[in-house]
Amino acid sequence: MPGREHFAPGLTAENCKMSEAAKLAVIGTVAIDQVETPFGKRERVFGGSASYFSYAAGLFTPVALVAVVGEDFPEEYRGILAERPVDMTHLKTLPGKTFCWKGQYGNDLNTAKTLETQLNVLLKFKPELTFKTQPKYVFLANIDPALQLDVLNQLDRRKLKYVACDTMNFWIENKRAELLKVLARIDCVVLNDGEARQLTQEPNLIRAAQKVRAMGPGHVIIKKGEHGVLLFYNHEFFALPAYPLENVFDPTGAGDTFAGGLMGSLAASGDLSFASMKRSVALGQIVASHTVEDFGLEALRRISQDNIRERLEIFKRFCSF
Ligand code: AMP
Repeated sequence: MPGREHFAPGLTAENCKMSEAAKLAVIGTVAIDQVETPFGKRERVFGGSASYFSYAAGLFTPVALVAVVGEDFPEEYRGILAERPVDMTHLKTLPGKTFCWKGQYGNDLNTAKTLETQLNVLLKFKPELTFKTQPKYVFLANIDPALQLDVLNQLDRRKLKYVACDTMNFWIENKRAELLKVLARIDCVVLNDGEARQLTQEPNLIRAAQKVRAMGPGHVIIKKGEHGVLLFYNHEFFALPAYPLENVFDPTGAGDTFAGGLMGSLAASGDLSFASMKRSVALGQIVASHTVEDFGLEALRRISQDNIRERLEIFKRFCSF
């Protein structure tokens, strides 16, 4: 199968030697979420941008997780992360409570309404990178842009191959200056359509992407929920629909696991060409399509790389003409 080498068959924490340094690192939130969708409500769900990202990226390559939790962080959640090759050396525990997000979705499952954000230990977090071998691929997942900058400042740019970032309305509103500094120093940004419009004050997404590119990143990816994704790769363009699903249960984590699939695939292949980017975007879409089929990480925990391959083959048929 072409591109099969992008997968590392049966990659698990057990058979992946974490002594082999992870090529990919992520900084982001590890959270305890409260989520309400039209199909049900969960009081405590394991979430956070970096948790979702690393679990998804771990389907393709080992990933180093840089994050903070409080003393209330359940051991069980650590066990979930350990199901994949996630290096938790940089997962710090601080006195206090874990970051907590309360979100709600109405009938429009593309838009989450934030009911409450409790930053908790995130307010005291000072990431300290102690990598023996610096990862070449870095994802600055949704977190305070001041922390994204802090991580960037600790990395040797000459050893980096690709840095991408994500953000959300909360930070665009509250930390715009810091966010612009991050954007000026990265290769790729992943935003949803609302965030792209908010960041640029531009209703048209094609123009919005051009404005984001002018802020720094050569590659801009705009996610449009159930309507798919747009990739602006330097001066090239590519669009994909979302994988068609009849049952979308909880969209939380779709964006983070999309990014996990994308970056995991790029880091595993080491190929940053337009063709590889398109394939990685498709893989991200497939991983996200599994995420939304259950609460939290539950659906992703049930799948293997075979399930991803199967959907990828079907998706290719849907998208080519
Ligand atoms: P998404 O992939 O966009 O659905 O991301 C959902 C995750 O983002 C949830 O598990 C939340 O814990 C996390 N989250 C929500 N708000 C923030 C925030 N302001 N900063 C970082 N992470 C957040």
